[in-house]
Amino acid sequence: MDITEIVIEGDTPGIAWRLPVLHFSGNKPEAPKIYIQAALHAGELPGTALAHFLCERLRQAETEGAILSDIIVVPHANPIGAAQSHFGEMQGRFDLGSRTNFNRDFPLISLRDRDLLIENLERYPAVDRLKRQLINMALGADLVIDLHCDDESLQYAYIDEAFWPEAADLAAALKMEAVLLSDGESSAFEEAVSFAWKYEVPGEKKVPLPGKLSVTVELRGTRDVYPEMAKRDAEGLWRFLAARGAVRDESVNLSAFTGPAVPLDNIEMIRAPQAGTVLFHRNIGERVAEGDLLATIITAPGMPDGTIDVRAPQAGLIVTRVSDRLVRRRGDLMKIGCDKPSVATRKPGTLED
Ligand SMILES: [Zn+2]
Repeated sequence: MDITEIVIEGDTPGIAWRLPVLHFSGNKPEAPKIYIQAALHAGELPGTALAHFLCERLRQAETEGAILSDIIVVPHANPIGAAQSHFGEMQGRFDLGSRTNFNRDFPLISLRDRDLLIENLERYPAVDRLKRQLINMALGADLVIDLHCDDESLQYAYIDEAFWPEAADLAAALKMEAVLLSDGESSAFEEAVSFAWKYEVPGEKKVPLPGKLSVTVELRGTRDVYPEMAKRDAEGLWRFLAARGAVRDESVNLSAFTGPAVPLDNIEMIRAPQAGTVLFHRNIGERVAEGDLLATIITAPGMPDGTIDVRAPQAGLIVTRVSDRLVRRRGDLMKIGCDKPSVATRKPGTLED
């Protein structure tokens, strides 16, 4: 394992962030190149824990000559976000200076313009320099895995339809409980990577993209960071790497993915009609029927008629749930994966800002 470091000078004097990048060299030139990063949203640590144990496994494989692909691992991709604290609370999702989401506004370019990403980097603010260097590394790979997590959540992934169903092996290897099929219409990291591949010839969209993968894995919820869980997840990703010929492990034999693969149009975003104290009746992982009571919101505590009920608009699987118990009007409560499209209109792109 070789370690390099990306140094990002701050936008004010006296500040610099240091980002370690771990490299494993493969011994099979034609094997797919791999890029794995975690914690782009700086407080989302299940992926960082996974990466820690995966690197342990990869170092062992290195001594056995079992690494076939060049593999880059960035176990914590966002030192800028990790340092942000606002009145004692970590703020790892948005850059406090520019109010931009750390996983949005990645440059949408053609793969042939990759070198331009890091040309004259000093022209850009620190957050953009970080983003440009991350995506530049990813565009050198064939298989790109961006490890995130949701709030309270099952394990699922956002996978662009351009990679489906080929990517079902990743879902099987990690034992995902659902896959959300996305449309590739955003500037999130994973979608900016696939954009560059799709438009390798500018103006000529190329899909599907066999042999390629760029995916956002949601490794359950923010608090799902435990040693045995992280080791199992690392083992799961190892099995995927073996199945794709990136590492040699003849013992790996993936079973088929049997969970639901749900288009984003079929996700019911359950929102709070009014503000209040939320009392959940149902939990993640449960299947609900149309009309089932999901939550009661106490809108006027102590008052007669001081509650409202929130019910399931159609049958489905509860994939995520908010962890805050004080909800704002129109605040997200749950994502439910359903068989039919939601009647609520959805803008193309990501489900959340
Ligand atoms: Zn995230």
